[in-house]
Amino acid sequence: MNATDTIQKLVSLSKRRGFVFQSSEIYGGLKSAYDYGPLGVELKRNIASEWWKSIVHEREDVVGIDASIMMHPSVWKASGHLAGFSDPLVDCLNCKERFRADKQPKVEPGTETVWVKGGKSSGEKVKGVVGACGYVCPHCASSQLSDERQFNLMFRTSIGPVDPLDEFLNEVQGKGLSRQELRAKLEEAIRSSAIYLRPETAQAMFVQFNNVQQTMSMKVPFGIAQQGKSFRNEVTTEKFIFRTCEFEQMEMEFFCEPGTQKEWHTYWVQSRMDWWKRFANDKTAFRDRWHEESELAHYADACVDIEYRYPWGWDELEGVASRTDYDLTQHQKESGVKLSYFDQQKNDPTTGKPGVRYIPYVIEPAAGLTRACLAYLCDAYAEEEGTDAEGENKTRVLLKLHPKLAPYKAAVLPLLKKEGMPDVARKIVADFYKAGVNASFDEQQSIGKRYSRHDEIGTPYCLTVDHQTLTDQTVTIRDRDTTRQERISVDRALEVVKARINES
Ligand code: ATP
Repeated sequence: MNATDTIQKLVSLSKRRGFVFQSSEIYGGLKSAYDYGPLGVELKRNIASEWWKSIVHEREDVVGIDASIMMHPSVWKASGHLAGFSDPLVDCLNCKERFRADKQPKVEPGTETVWVKGGKSSGEKVKGVVGACGYVCPHCASSQLSDERQFNLMFRTSIGPVDPLDEFLNEVQGKGLSRQELRAKLEEAIRSSAIYLRPETAQAMFVQFNNVQQTMSMKVPFGIAQQGKSFRNEVTTEKFIFRTCEFEQMEMEFFCEPGTQKEWHTYWVQSRMDWWKRFANDKTAFRDRWHEESELAHYADACVDIEYRYPWGWDELEGVASRTDYDLTQHQKESGVKLSYFDQQKNDPTTGKPGVRYIPYVIEPAAGLTRACLAYLCDAYAEEEGTDAEGENKTRVLLKLHPKLAPYKAAVLPLLKKEGMPDVARKIVADFYKAGVNASFDEQQSIGKRYSRHDEIGTPYCLTVDHQTLTDQTVTIRDRDTTRQERISVDRALEVVKARINES
């Protein structure tokens, strides 16, 4: 199966089975925006909840917050996002597509390249050579390209009852200003009420550093974690839910003493890698890529990408950066509020007296939640050749999702819609609901079709109520991956499923 096939199959399964739909589909869809359907939202929540459990609930040294998406514009000035959060945008002069220069494979300048005029699939061929930029258009291979220009990725909107466009028109009307002057006036009018949708969740953890540290009496080293939506006006959105303009992140800022950052960075790379692998079938599909010195942001002293082998190749899933004291220092400068930590256990190295104040260093594991959904869907998708009940050759499609991530933990299936079987099944499913274990009561279509449906949505266990159940109060439990069945008592159904999920 090639990369396009696999992604196409996942897109189609996601739609057919209620994982992911195109946003605003009835209006033709909104490019790069997706809605998570009834099963997709369960998968996403399960991943988020496993992350929260491992980062916040199972640790003494990390607490969580849930900050607002809109923040004071000074946050983005201090963080550097207003000035520098941009991607190099290039227009192809042949096919008119736009793309990001920094994501294109390098081609030796001077290499010959051939493309079809207008970017069509066939037609007049044009020859050219790769320019000094060292790349060609990823859509049509043309080397006729515009210069790179920086494009800020933040979504800008305005807050308050004033319409900046009215202000602008009042200001410029009848003044005969040049295009440049008009642009400057427009920027000025917008700036006074401009706010931005956050492009990452991280900044709230820096600006709430004092509040969290003091209210929770946190001692360095400690972390603040957050999950939530982020927004980037991406130049190119691509590969289903891999890169979208609205997405979700799971980030943590871990504050540590200067000098200990290397140790903590190594620790978090390992810990995050173990977490990703814990829920995957193919553990070899994850790797860490240490950034070269030249790749590092000016404030970072190390950075590792945790990458996943998507159908198109290795690509980012999470970044684990060692960000020094850059963020707290920047916000301290911009706000005038001290963002430091007083360590009473240590002596001041200059005076020798007890207690030392410093700005903590930060390790930031920043993962994509929506990207995680894609990675685990890719990992889970499987096709198995076999025969059906009638002996016909059949391809079994299944999602081998980890039981903890699967939308339903069990499906409860009455073999027939009569003889009291649905009542017994409903009683079993009610026990699951009461225990907070998501289960599905499913009596539609033949039992074979129901098994196929639950294989395809990743339900790890099917419990079938049949004739025997009515005489000996047992049901069959069928394992999704092996298709093996055994009988267990109705009374123990919930306990058995819970135990298997916990062991997984
Ligand atoms: P990329 O190089 O893929 O653009 P990035 O290095 O800009 O990503 P970060 O700013 O480090 O990404 O964000 C942390 C994580 O958030 C990424 O590893 C990714 O999982 C997720 N993420 C970032 N941008 C997007 C997006 N546009 N759509 C979906 N997930 C995203």
